Amino acid sequence: MDELLNPLHPKNPRNIDDGTKPPPPTTPPNAINEEAGSGGSKWERPEGAEPIPLPSKGVFYLAEGQGRYWNMESLMVRQLNYTDEDILTTRAYFENLTVFNEILRNVIVDPNRFPYSSLVPVDRDTILLWLRSKAFGNEFEIEYTCPECKIAYPVIWDISTFDIPTYEDYVYEQLKTQGEFTVELPQSGVRVRLTVPSIGQSADAEKRMLAKKQAKRATNDFYGTSSLMLIVAGVEDNGRVMRNKNEIENFFNKINLTLGDSRFIRKQAERLNIKYNTAKACECPHCNHIVEGVEMPIYHPNFFWPDTGI
Ligand SMILES: [Zn+2]
Repeated sequence: MDELLNPLHPKNPRNIDDGTKPPPPTTPPNAINEEAGSGGSKWERPEGAEPIPLPSKGVFYLAEGQGRYWNMESLMVRQLNYTDEDILTTRAYFENLTVFNEILRNVIVDPNRFPYSSLVPVDRDTILLWLRSKAFGNEFEIEYTCPECKIAYPVIWDISTFDIPTYEDYVYEQLKTQGEFTVELPQSGVRVRLTVPSIGQSADAEKRMLAKKQAKRATNDFYGTSSLMLIVAGVEDNGRVMRNKNEIENFFNKINLTLGDSRFIRKQAERLNIKYNTAKACECPHCNHIVEGVEMPIYHPNFFWPDTGI
């Protein structure tokens, strides 16, 4: 944890070679967290706000703005308060799960104006877990239905015991200097640059996918190609880097990208999309049936609506 908070953590940003991305910041963006806001006026830290260390260390926050969020290691977030009650009691928000986005929109109070939709999943989860533990404590309980005897029993996770996800060292070295991870595909030999889509990019892609499905009256949902295009940020071809998604898709069609190569891309992308490991074994108190690897569901009514008895 201390390492994440260390403002002297080494940064070695250098220009991106293909010139299609803005130059990286020369100073750690964190420095502006506590300084003046955009208007030059002194920024006042809202009550209950704290800099939350981001497990991604901001390595993917290059495309937004002028790259000023790149390698940003923390984000100022305020705790939930009574003003969030309106969101939490709006049923429509909960039913389509936008409640989590609405909450994030409100609680990110960093003067750098980082947009919540640019968060990558691991940072979003980190903020949600922090909000949850500040508001309702570290214990998260759900009723889990035993797949064997069908009787529900309580399962509890302790948020404070989760390890902060980290990248493998060599992966982080590349991400912090390039903002993406380059791999060479084993079958075609093509060099591909991988990234992690933000929650906003994933939501947009989902909308496009639905529209495409309706337009073509298709029964398949295009999930495969759509998710592949999200994690491929660029493809190297004859000394230049393709970044246009249509161009990349056409290129993959032209070389007839093999299933082996596309699976390799997904496998490598998992190194970038780090996650909390919440899996635990649960034993049914009624029939002693054990289920291994039950993951804590963040998108669960109990997350922000626990039965606390308060
Ligand atoms: Zn059981």
